[in-house]
Amino acid sequence: MRSIKSWQASAILNRSPAGPTMGFHYSLNPYRGCSHACRYCYARESHTYLDLNVAEDFEQQLFVKENLRERLRSELIRVPLDAVIAVGTVTDPYQPLEGRHQLTRTAIELLAESGHAFTLTTKSPLIERDLDLLEPLGRRGQLGVHISLMSLDRELLHRLEPGTSPPARRLEMIRRVHERGIPVGTFAAPIIPVLTDGKESLDALFEALKDAGSDWIMTSSTRLSAAIRPYFFDQVHAFDPAAAETIRSLYHDTQFVDQAYRRRLETLLRTLYQRHHMSRTGPLLRPYRTEAQMEFHFD
Ligand code: SF4
Repeated sequence: MRSIKSWQASAILNRSPAGPTMGFHYSLNPYRGCSHACRYCYARESHTYLDLNVAEDFEQQLFVKENLRERLRSELIRVPLDAVIAVGTVTDPYQPLEGRHQLTRTAIELLAESGHAFTLTTKSPLIERDLDLLEPLGRRGQLGVHISLMSLDRELLHRLEPGTSPPARRLEMIRRVHERGIPVGTFAAPIIPVLTDGKESLDALFEALKDAGSDWIMTSSTRLSAAIRPYFFDQVHAFDPAAAETIRSLYHDTQFVDQAYRRRLETLLRTLYQRHHMSRTGPLLRPYRTEAQMEFHFD
């Protein structure tokens, strides 16, 4: 049974534990939990900090950071202007909740005002609602959008990401964001052994993404923490027992896939990046400085 609760967050911006090596300095998540329900989602583990489980609780016990507007403005004043902020690292900022609560839109309005560079990551067409706000930010180099799409196989995606939009719709999102002049890349990730790592299917995915207007493609193998592994293997086992066993054998009870597998995957990916003349990273984002924006920081 779905429950949506109000949450008074002690902080809206969280400093990246890995520092800028991840490409951002702070993360911003307007919600906790995510009804997109991706089976491999590493963020599931964050629900255990609330004494909730990584399975249905993560998808159904959702929290709305009601105090986002007041807190975010005061936090942004203290964040250096050259810091990059990633919106949507442990929840999809455009999951269905956003339609009603509009906290992501509020965050974008505040970031437009503060001038900080930021990225937005989503699988949801709801981002199109905000293209009016995002277009000028993208055109002035303050924003990069990531659409996540790991496979063109609609059936498989329905099993692995049951709450998300189908691949054709996500390609359409990329097209629409690109047409607005906003830098847009794709997270073609995570790549799951057996299920999404086929040479032909990845080649077709790269081709479709390039054709849709993806300016870059980021890839990564699947990380499965100890908290997620049993849940993930059970989910895959339910529709493909043989694949579940092969994946399990490649993880050796660790969170990372076997090194030899990673090397083979990297060789394949290198060929695909070359073949499609595709970049692995997006443009360097820059903060936007105006007089009003300087006042935002120093009033
Ligand atoms: S959309 Fe992102 S945050 Fe939401 S369940 Fe999927 S991977 Fe996790």
